[in-house]
Amino acid sequence: MSIPLFKYQLNETETVNFFKRLKQNDIFTYSDSYLWGDVLSIASKYGVIIRYCPPASEEYKTYGSHVCKVLYLNNEMKIEEKIKDGYYETRIQHPEYPKKVCKQCNTPFISVKKSPGPKREIPNFCSNCGHPIKDEYENDLKVYNVIMQNMHQESKRLLNLFKTDALEYCGLSNYPKAQQVWNYAWEESHSSGLINVLATLEELSELVILRYM
Ligand SMILES: [Zn+2]
Repeated sequence: MSIPLFKYQLNETETVNFFKRLKQNDIFTYSDSYLWGDVLSIASKYGVIIRYCPPASEEYKTYGSHVCKVLYLNNEMKIEEKIKDGYYETRIQHPEYPKKVCKQCNTPFISVKKSPGPKREIPNFCSNCGHPIKDEYENDLKVYNVIMQNMHQESKRLLNLFKTDALEYCGLSNYPKAQQVWNYAWEESHSSGLINVLATLEELSELVILRYM
C-alpha cells in the first residue's frame, strides 16, 4: 500500500475549510486539543467519513498517533463550487530556495572556485564564525527538493482528479476518445482556469455525444 508523503493537521482554526477540502484517501492528524470522538463527530457534520489508524497500521508507523484516513466523502458540492473553492489546488506551499547565508551569523557564503572547471563550491565552514555551513546547506537543499517533488506529485494527483470529475460531469467517462477530447479542452482553455476547461469540455461533449449516439 502506498502512503502519501505529506499530511495535514487539524487544529482549532479553519475547521470548516479543513473538512471541506479533504479528499478521499487523504491522511490527516489532529492536535492534542481534540479527542478522537470529537474529530469523528465534526467530520461527519461536514459529510466526511473517516477512520482512525491504529498503532499496527502503516499510517500510524509513518505519522505517529492521532492519524485518520478519509474513507469517503458524502459532500454534495458541485464541480463548479469545488473549482471555486480551490478543491483541485494543492495546499503544499512552494518552498523557498535555501539562502547562501550562514544561519548563525548571517554572513553570506562566498563560493570558492575549484580549478579546473567551472564549478563553485561552498566552503565547509563559515568564514566569520566557523559554523558548518556546507552540511547545513546541502541538507536544506535536500529538504527543498523533497518538498518540490511532493508538490509536483500532488499537483499531478489533483489534475487527474479534476479530469476524472470533469469527464464524468460531462458524461464522457466511458467515451472511447475521452482522452482526445480532454486534451483538446485542456490545450484550448487551461490558461484561463479550470472553470473554462470545464466549459470547453461541456461544449465538446454535446457535439461528441450527438455523434456517438
Ligand atoms: Zn557564520
